[in-house]
Amino acid sequence: MAIGYQQQQLHIEQLSAQDLLQQYGSPCYVYSKAQLLTNLQAYQQAATGLDALICFAVKANSNLAVLQLFAAAGAGADVVSVGELQRALAAGFAANRIVYSGVGKTKTDMALALKAGILQFNVESIPELQRLSEVATALGLEAAIAIRVNPDVDAGTHEKIATGKAENKFGISWQQVEQVYALAAELPGIRIQGVDMHIGSQITDLAPYQAAFQRMLELVERLQALGHTIDTIDLGGGLGILYPDARQAVSIDDYMALVRQHFANKGCRLILEPGRSLAATAGVLLCQVEYVKQGPGKTFLILDAAMNDLLRPAMYGAVHAIWPVQLHPERASQRYDVVGPVCETGDTFSMGQTLPELAPGEAVAIGQAGAYGAVMASCYNTRALVPEVLVSGQQSALVRRRIEIEEQLSWDQMPDF
Ligand SMILES: *Cc1c(COP(=O)(O)O)cnc(C)c1O
Repeated sequence: MAIGYQQQQLHIEQLSAQDLLQQYGSPCYVYSKAQLLTNLQAYQQAATGLDALICFAVKANSNLAVLQLFAAAGAGADVVSVGELQRALAAGFAANRIVYSGVGKTKTDMALALKAGILQFNVESIPELQRLSEVATALGLEAAIAIRVNPDVDAGTHEKIATGKAENKFGISWQQVEQVYALAAELPGIRIQGVDMHIGSQITDLAPYQAAFQRMLELVERLQALGHTIDTIDLGGGLGILYPDARQAVSIDDYMALVRQHFANKGCRLILEPGRSLAATAGVLLCQVEYVKQGPGKTFLILDAAMNDLLRPAMYGAVHAIWPVQLHPERASQRYDVVGPVCETGDTFSMGQTLPELAPGEAVAIGQAGAYGAVMASCYNTRALVPEVLVSGQQSALVRRRIEIEEQLSWDQMPDF
């Protein structure tokens, strides 16, 4: 375990969380390089013998240092904006290992991605396809595309992260898709390359994948029978982890076995877009107890980290692990509502959480924070933007500095009137 206790002290690899907090200040995100790579290797090993490109979903953790290590380890990238595309390129991903998804690509976005020479546009609507054709033609370039198919399966996940049901804004409905491929085949500047799906995030069982893969397989066969070239099958991401225990909800091996069973001998290159399952377990948000507040029948543990630093609990009702940085086996345990200092009732991390008794100034780690953590952080309540640190063995490096209040004030300008 790259993140765990050694001699009663929480460690990220060989460094104690307490020392890291001392060095980098509180709160801060800390990632384990070894755990990030272990998570990637689980996919790579399970994909042995398959022509599969593991494209890290950059939105889960877009820090350049994290992207750089995935790029160096042989991953590709899945981006959902040109900002992410620029990050991926800056971090060293070859353009021909980058796929670009997203429902709202502008003309400027498309031009930038076309000029960069990305592997594939995942197209989400007919007007997007027409616009891409115009932009590519104007530039004298060709866009390699897959149509994102909405397989209309219920991923059984939180409503805010389900994307594969008919009522979601993503992809093209199952019924319309052949017609869209026919249009794509006619349009100048467009080259049909494959098919694409992504049914949601934090999916904790294989059944929705099974249903969606079956539909994709039938679709690929139908499209090929219609004379379309299908060279890539992009299966999206979405594999969940179990919060708060940090285990994989579904083993990567079982997931890849399902992939293999459906697509191994189709002669197509497979693209996978995992985000959370690569990064979540590799990060913690380190912070400190500010106050222990006694309420009627409740004890609040007020941390110096808040919803602006880690939004998932407030946004999705997610419950992350909360680990004391220092274990004191002799201490009694206590039930706490663990909350942040932001002026929002939703600024809670965990209600009724049993923890060893903690005192102001003592440190805690919020676990499974490597994905959808720092990327969603904001300066809400004019709080400093939380920094990020990468650990490798006994070494640590600040990979994004804290954006302090003075700097934030300088972003604003007073008008003349
Ligand atoms: C968010 C997203 C992913 C990654 O999802 P995870 O649940 O983090 O694996 C992959 N593909 C697309 C298109 C996405 O929007």
